[in-house]
Order: sequence, then C-alpha cells, then structure tokens
Amino acid sequence: MIHSILEKKSLTKEDVLFLLQTKGQYVEDLFSYAASIKEKYIGKKVVLRGLIEFSNICEKDCYYCGIRKGNKSVSRFNVTDKDILEAVQFAYENDYGSLALQSGELQSKTFTNRVACLLKEIDKLSKGTLGVTLSCGEQTEETYQRWFDAGAHRYLLRIETSNKELYQKIHPHNELHRFNKRIACLESLQKVGFQTGTGVMIGLPFQTIENLAEDLLFMQTIDIDMCGMGPYLLHEDTPLAKYSTSILPLTTRLELSLKMVAILRILMKDINIAATTALQAIEAKAREKAVEIGANVLMPNITPGFHRNNYNLYQNKPRTTGNFERDGEHLQDTTFGNAQIIYGKRGDSLHYFGREVTTN
Ligand code: SAH
Ligand code: SF4
Repeated sequence: MIHSILEKKSLTKEDVLFLLQTKGQYVEDLFSYAASIKEKYIGKKVVLRGLIEFSNICEKDCYYCGIRKGNKSVSRFNVTDKDILEAVQFAYENDYGSLALQSGELQSKTFTNRVACLLKEIDKLSKGTLGVTLSCGEQTEETYQRWFDAGAHRYLLRIETSNKELYQKIHPHNELHRFNKRIACLESLQKVGFQTGTGVMIGLPFQTIENLAEDLLFMQTIDIDMCGMGPYLLHEDTPLAKYSTSILPLTTRLELSLKMVAILRILMKDINIAATTALQAIEAKAREKAVEIGANVLMPNITPGFHRNNYNLYQNKPRTTGNFERDGEHLQDTTFGNAQIIYGKRGDSLHYFGREVTTN
C-alpha cells in the first residue's frame, strides 16, 4: 500500500494524509524512500548558512513568539554593524558559502536602509562570493527590490500555517497580521526574483493533521524554492502558552516534523529544505535525522555570543553547544549525519534555476 503511494507521479491530499499518519515499519519505508529521492536529486549533501540573528526588536505580536513586541521581559538588542561584519568575516574565512540574516520585523526607513547598507558591505567584504538569505518579515515590494539589488538573493518568509482560520487564531486581528498580506509578500518576493522560501510550525494549538497536509500542498502549489519548518515550541510569556496542556506531546511534534520534511522532499524533489534548530531543541540528533531523510541545509548560529541568549523565539533554544559554531568545536567537520558538508558553495536552490528556465 505505502509503496504504491510513494511511487505515484503526484500525491493527492488523501495520499499526504495517509503518509502523515503512518506508523511503525511504514514510517521507516517513508523515510527511506525520501532519503533515496534526496540522494537522487541533491546527493548525500548538506550546505551551510551562517545564521546571524541581528536584532530581536519587533513591531509584531505573533501569539506564539517569545520576542513579540508585547513581551516586556525580553531585553532588546541590535547587533552593531561592526559585530555583524565580524561574524560575516568569520563565515567567509571558514568557507560557509552563505549567510542567513534574521531579525524581528520592522518596516521603518532606518531599519530598511540599515539592511540595504549591510548587504552592500557584505558583498564588498566577501567580494560577491557569499550567498545571502534574508528573513526580516513582511516588507513592501520596493523594499524587497532594494534588498535584492543590494545583494540578497534568497528570502525566507514562513506562512506559519496555510489555513487562514488557524492563522487568525495565532495572530492578533489587526493590519500588521493579515494572512492575505503574508501571501501577497510571498508573491512579491517571487516577482522580484528571490529564491523564495516559506514554512510552517508543526504541532500548533488547534492545528489538525489535515491542516498539515494542506500546508505541504500549499508549498507545492505556490512553487517555493526553499523551506524551513519545524515543531512549534512553547514560550511561557506568550498568549499561546495557555494551551500547553492541549498540544501534542513533544515526541509526536518531532515525529510529525520529520514526516513533513520527508513528504516535502518527495513532493518537491529539488528544493532546499532546512534542518531547523527547533528540531534540535527537542532532540539533539534530530537535525541529523532530518538531513538523512530529506533536508539539505544547515544554519549554524554565528551570532556573536553575548546576544544569542536574547533571541528566544521559544524556550530551551539550543545555544552555544554543538552546532559547529564559533566555539570552533565542529569547524573541521566534513560530515553531518550521513551527509557530506559542502564548504565554499552558495548552495542555491536547484528548483529556482529550473523554474527560471521553464518560465523564461
Ligand atoms: N520576524 C521574522 C523572522 C524571525 S521569526 C518573521 O516572523 O518572519 C522566524 C520564525 O520563527 C517564524 O517564522 C516562526 O515560524 C518561528 N517561531 C516563532 N516562534 C516560534 C515558536 N514558539 N516555536 C517554533 N517556531 C517559532
Ligand atoms: Fe516578530 Fe517574527 Fe516573532 Fe512574529 S515571529 S513576533 S514577526 S520575530
């Protein structure tokens, strides 16, 4: 039964639902099939993005997020340009090939100008060689264009959930948090020419298995180039914390997240899929597993150490240990799980270039 589904040319929602609900040996069958697809289209490889979480100042109030504006117990920071560029230099010297710059969401001129200037500095410093992924939330199309022109070429904006009703349950009801706006931003990013990534949280309160199946099909329908998704993790100082007793157990959220990665790899064979830090927050080895069964991107955190402890989107976020980070511990590693770590390459989405060719 499972093999006849796995080998179908395209999967229906019922097929995806079936795969999400597999148990026992069937889970192993799903994982090994996804691993074989990854090997065929991507190779047993993983590429790096040195992640710099450069500011936790945010205008928004997403109900799940620990650095939401309304959380007054967070100490706010902005990594200085000098420290950001020092981290960039580190990524450059250590052959990471790419960077990811992430922050809270601000739309002010000061912020958008600052990001544009930083991008130009990064381009100069790395002589145009480092790939740059941005993840700075919703912006106008003009801002996206400006950032693209300044040297960013990948952008990650998670839809969080593709179900509008659920989206409304996990966000305040105001102009800053509109589902349709989020979709429009993804369209703008594609129009500007970014390799465009999205993703969802897995195991949110109120979320059903059907919602997750629809999330995967949504990613296929809008034809993304990259995906970063992971388990929802609770943060005490957030409005969603009150549902702590009604959400799925951590181990179930982890297993579902791995299944999501495997199924997405089967649905979208040549996109970039990240093995996210949130997986690792549940189980130390979970990122390795994700890489074995479909993911091909790792984002080691290279944010200057003294700021890392304040970028807590969720509780128990892994900090300084074990993600071949600046401590140098894993810098010489050549493998991660069963994958070879590719140094010195931007690791762009193969899917994006396929899309370019077919649409031009
Ligand atoms: N402000 C930007 C980028 C930073 S937040 C944005 O929102 O797009 C990056 C991601 O962290 C979010 O997209 C969300 O999916 C994830 N995140 C936030 N709170 C989380 C939580 N409690 N558990 C798991 N992931 C969370
Ligand atoms: Fe801000 Fe992003 Fe957190 Fe929402 S998820 S509160 S936009 S940092």
